[in-house]
Amino acid sequence: MSSQNPVFIPGPTNIPDELRRAIDLPTMDHRSSAFADMLHPALAGIKRVVKLRDGEAIIFPATGTGAWEAAVTNLLSPGDTVLAARHGMFSHRWIDLCRRQGFNVEVIETEWGLGAPAEALGAALSADKAHKIRAVLVTHNETATGVRSDVASVRKALDAAGHPALLLVDGVSSIASMDFRMDEWGVDAAITGSQKGFMLPAGLSIVALSRKAIAAMATSTSPRCFFDFKDMLKSNASGGFPYTPPVSLIAGLAHSIRMLEGEGLENVFARHYRIAEGVRRATRAWGLALCAKSPELYSDTVSAIVVPANVDSTRIVTHAAEKYQVAFSVGLGEVAGKVFRIGHLGSMSDVMALSGIATAEMAMVDLGLPIELGSGVAAAQEFYRTSTSNRQTRA
Ligand code: PLP
Repeated sequence: MSSQNPVFIPGPTNIPDELRRAIDLPTMDHRSSAFADMLHPALAGIKRVVKLRDGEAIIFPATGTGAWEAAVTNLLSPGDTVLAARHGMFSHRWIDLCRRQGFNVEVIETEWGLGAPAEALGAALSADKAHKIRAVLVTHNETATGVRSDVASVRKALDAAGHPALLLVDGVSSIASMDFRMDEWGVDAAITGSQKGFMLPAGLSIVALSRKAIAAMATSTSPRCFFDFKDMLKSNASGGFPYTPPVSLIAGLAHSIRMLEGEGLENVFARHYRIAEGVRRATRAWGLALCAKSPELYSDTVSAIVVPANVDSTRIVTHAAEKYQVAFSVGLGEVAGKVFRIGHLGSMSDVMALSGIATAEMAMVDLGLPIELGSGVAAAQEFYRTSTSNRQTRA
């Protein structure tokens, strides 16, 4: 695959040249004050991005999966019950990880294409009079289906049930691209990685913790070593790491946050909304539908597009890669073969998105889908041309 074309996968995302240069560093002594001067702005920046005032941010050398594991093993004890909805491959994988770690997961099976069902979660919490459920897991942006969940409504359900469970949220494909309000939504642990909204290579697990989560950490008895929050917080306080840190990526994270804040976080979210809306209009012009069942569920970082029943969506992705050297994403799990995904997060502009829309269109026409060449591009062009405000956004 040529490196000349942008990728349209929902992470890893395109790395801006400026950021690529920022991570091209000579070796440094990670026990020096120069490292602390990189680490502390990165940690403080994470808190601003997730809108957490009072709490801690933590970075591990791993990926989003490592952040899932770190959160549950630091905050829960073996045999604890957690509550989660399964509505896509990533909510499924977090459930699987919890089971393999020895937690008891109460699963609410939910149609793929819907978000975390606040009402059903609330009913399960209300029924749990003994407060056996220690944590509720929510996947803010289900990357497999292009569905955004309403975290605030899950917080409301917890409060309405008067339930003390922790609220742990996977923001791997939303944080730094879509608005995330940790304090306002009462999120106890927010989880992400470096390779999506932060536009870096994979390699960092990022976790932000509320004070309530930090208190839970003190009583959790799950075995952990590499991912121990306590060791990490102690070392970070004196400017270091409990082991060798991924210095370049941490420097890159601090730089990425400077870039995001230079644009303005609200402008970053508005840009993602606008780009996504162009992709959605193109999808409609093609006569196709999104996997997300209704507009309030639409993700601004990835669109999962349902193809006609007689088409294998994987062929569209393979064909675009082979003929046009452009990467889209296949459907996963229950929607494998049924959807293909256009990732539109991170370093992305209207003009880049138009090239992705045009390529998807060519690939589908090549494969005989009844789509008029130019129809999706024109719909997106019209939207991008007339939507001049960068401020249009959704809460
Ligand atoms: N959660 C979500 C929503 C994701 O999209 C992903 C990866 O795409 C993960 C978790 C797992 O992250 P990683 O692949 O960085 O381990």
